[in-house]
Amino acid sequence: MKGVVFNILEDMVTEKGGLQMWQKVLDKAGVDGGYTAVSTYSDDEMFSIVGAVVEELGIPAEEVIGAFGVYMFGQLASRYPVFTDSASDLFTFLESIDSVIHLEVKKLMTETNLPSISCTREGEKLLVMNYRSPRKLCILAEGLIYGAAEHYGCGIKIDHPVCMHKGADHCDLQVSLTDE
Ligand code: ZN
Repeated sequence: MKGVVFNILEDMVTEKGGLQMWQKVLDKAGVDGGYTAVSTYSDDEMFSIVGAVVEELGIPAEEVIGAFGVYMFGQLASRYPVFTDSASDLFTFLESIDSVIHLEVKKLMTETNLPSISCTREGEKLLVMNYRSPRKLCILAEGLIYGAAEHYGCGIKIDHPVCMHKGADHCDLQVSLTDE
């Protein structure tokens, strides 16, 4: 995983608990810190840090990862506005992730482990995203989708009836627009 993701996680933890909290997290995870945005670090290192955040902040992993996704979307949107500028509404943006955004991200970060996502519209208010990734980070994907919804100013709910963590070969993320 690219260092920029670690940088964003560091920002999130420091905003909540200061540099002291981030240092505690690094100590607990047994890592050095000092991540460079464009360098690549192991996924395991990221998971150790997330595990340490879970323990230090006392909140469940799913919540940490979900919150991180929302936060990460905001950060990515402000660092790389080209990703959101090209789509005028949430569903168009989500549909463009696989073809446009991952391509751009690959150019930018030479990232090779990106998930594959295919979208199907099932009516005006429902988009089903079929997610496949060897990393099984569907909870992070949910967080990112909530972050995107916030960016586009729409209320959504996500149902996740089919999941790789429950033995399926992919996840179905059903994104419904709500009225708020
Ligand atoms: Zn899943």
